[in-house]
Amino acid sequence: MPVPRRSPSAAARYIDRYFWWIQGLLCVCLLILLFLIRQSFKPPFDLIIKNGRVFNGERFLSLPRDVGIRGGKVAAIGFLYGISTKETIDARNRVVAPGFIDTHVHVEASMVMGRAFRAPNFIKMGVTTVVTGNCGTSHQRLREILNSLEKTGGHVNVVTLVGHNTVREQVMGQNPEHPSPEQLRAMKAQVEDAMRAGAFGLSTGLQYAPGIYSDRDEVVALAEVAKKYGGIYATHVRDEGNGLMDSLEEAVDICKRAQIPLHVSHLKRASKRDWGKMPEALAFLDSERPNLPALTHDVYPYTGSSSSLDLLLPADFRGMLPQSRRILSDPVERRRLVLGMLKQLESEGFVDYGFARIAWFRDEQFWGKKIPDLEIPSSWRDQTAWVRDIVKGRVPAQDVENALYVFGHGGAQMIYDVMDESDMIASLKDAYACVGSDTGVWTSERRTSHPRSIGTFPKIIGELVRDGKISLDSALRKMTLEPATIFGLTDRGRLQEGMPADLVVFDPETVSGPADYNQLQEPLGFDYVLVNGTVVAKYGKVEARFPGKVIRKRNESPLELVVEPPAPVEKSEVKPDSATAKSHDVVSDEDKKKRAKPAHSTRKGGKRGTR
Ligand SMILES: [Zn+2]
Repeated sequence: MPVPRRSPSAAARYIDRYFWWIQGLLCVCLLILLFLIRQSFKPPFDLIIKNGRVFNGERFLSLPRDVGIRGGKVAAIGFLYGISTKETIDARNRVVAPGFIDTHVHVEASMVMGRAFRAPNFIKMGVTTVVTGNCGTSHQRLREILNSLEKTGGHVNVVTLVGHNTVREQVMGQNPEHPSPEQLRAMKAQVEDAMRAGAFGLSTGLQYAPGIYSDRDEVVALAEVAKKYGGIYATHVRDEGNGLMDSLEEAVDICKRAQIPLHVSHLKRASKRDWGKMPEALAFLDSERPNLPALTHDVYPYTGSSSSLDLLLPADFRGMLPQSRRILSDPVERRRLVLGMLKQLESEGFVDYGFARIAWFRDEQFWGKKIPDLEIPSSWRDQTAWVRDIVKGRVPAQDVENALYVFGHGGAQMIYDVMDESDMIASLKDAYACVGSDTGVWTSERRTSHPRSIGTFPKIIGELVRDGKISLDSALRKMTLEPATIFGLTDRGRLQEGMPADLVVFDPETVSGPADYNQLQEPLGFDYVLVNGTVVAKYGKVEARFPGKVIRKRNESPLELVVEPPAPVEKSEVKPDSATAKSHDVVSDEDKKKRAKPAHSTRKGGKRGTR
């Protein structure tokens, strides 16, 4: 009897029909399971910054990503699921970028042996690495201070240059003569020692004593030593006023002869007669670029410079503050001084000292006042009656008397409103420019400072970006990858797996640096600043944590610098805030009016300063 064939059940029919589909689905499930198991065995992250708009130093990545940090380094960038983490930061609608590199700072006075390096104003601006030793002035015990900082750590990483003025002063004091062969040998030995200790190059401040006494041969001889160790030559040029073009020619010539990369510090046109002529300076640098290993510059985003009273004096009276009373009581010397002051003032297109404000002076009531507005004792006017005979109405005699009063009473730290905004923007936008605040350490207990000490970086990525003066991508490159390339910092300025986790998390819609010459308001919009994987600032509050390292130059061969600017990259997806943009359209005129009010600074008057 034939066995009746049972018809297959509905389920069996279903399995039969979708056999391969079910197989496939099982395989996918298995793979996901394996992936999750594998992930769970991975070491946990210390921190994941989730869903941020990642800027990698060169460009924005296309989709929001997570950044995983482990052991102070960036361990992964991507979509990080299933890996445990000790801490998470939600960075939705925030930019996650490499921490900023401030290419031009003066923090020597704040680097103290045996103490952690505190730099709250830099951290608050998103800066995680500073380059100090600029304008010819570096730490007098450079090797020791680097060793000390290595043990104590700091808020930020520290890179240093070796300063020509410091070296010259140690070897020959304030002697205005050319160095003897022996003295030059001693200076070269000091530069060599600093380069071996890890300096990244030589800096000069040829506008200040004693650097002002040096000729090209002297600087070339020292630059050659820096070049031997792969360093760069960073210069505060001899004259940033109407002698700028000659000074740039000198800088180029020095670097051609030493075949060393040239970096011009705080490029500016400080003579009123030359306002609007920044393109001419940039064109000159462009034309010389093929002749040098590299040619770059840094900029701060303000039209006021900050320096000592020295810059109001003719070149041969700079650095002579300690002898001011002697000079003022010598009829020949003081006549030469005043005539030199008048010549300088007139040649730069100014008719009085209204552009010069006292930031710091021994008498606090002068702070913030312009030189013409100082109320000086009438006895001083009686003593300086001779000024009127020399000035003869060329400029207000009272201005000169007031300036001489400050000169005769210990000097002052000044703010000079000597630049044009269009020049500053042109300098900043140049393909070879990076950002340098040109400031020192400032804490809110100190009432006075130039706004650049707390506003430089947020002002650029906030106001200047929203005003359409520069794109966010370009501004960020000038604060991250480009300075790292210029100075040869091979593991900074990049957000990349394996790199130290120096990171900044900020809101591109609200970031701003509202500090101005009247009020030193702190930056807004920075959520987190991390140095070597440690959160050092959270919503503007700086922690007493010192993960910052000393970065030493180790490379003993010449730097390989990128001479070409990075290729154009995809445009930022961050939309400019049109409402804010409108309110800032009139920045130049309004700013200039605001600047008629008091200005402040931190540094004491003296032979040396920044500008
Ligand atoms: Zn300088």
